[in-house]
Amino acid sequence: MAYSYDDQNIFARILRGEIPNDTVLETEHTLAFRDIQPQAPVHVLVIPKGAYVSYDHFAAEATDAEIADLNRVIARICRDEGVSLENGEGFRMITNAGRHGVQEVPHMHVHILGGRPLGRMLS
Ligand code: 5GP
Repeated sequence: MAYSYDDQNIFARILRGEIPNDTVLETEHTLAFRDIQPQAPVHVLVIPKGAYVSYDHFAAEATDAEIADLNRVIARICRDEGVSLENGEGFRMITNAGRHGVQEVPHMHVHILGGRPLGRMLS
């Protein structure tokens, strides 16, 4: 079964400029912006500009350039927000996928959380 992408999802609308966002960093293939309901002092969402529904879709079908760009953006944000191990106390990355992963917005995104101790979380 092929991945099915809904181009009316809220992040697709943000990418088209139909809904405002608090942009942290934008590159050729990637957009990063602050979560509207932050769960930590640093809570940034990193999304590919391409139409990928989830991380598995992105990892399987994105180009190497898109994958590299998204990961470099994550590294830059961690450093710029002061949560990298180079200049801070650490962070957590989360990517929810599908119903069991409790993904609310069906456009692939990575949460970067930091700025406070986050507690243990693996369930
Ligand atoms: P998910 O549960 O899909 O991994 O997370 C979706 C995230 O998107 C949530 O943390 C939610 O607060 C955030 N979000 C939902 N709608 C908007 C929006 O319109 N703008 C921004 N910046 N974040 C949003």
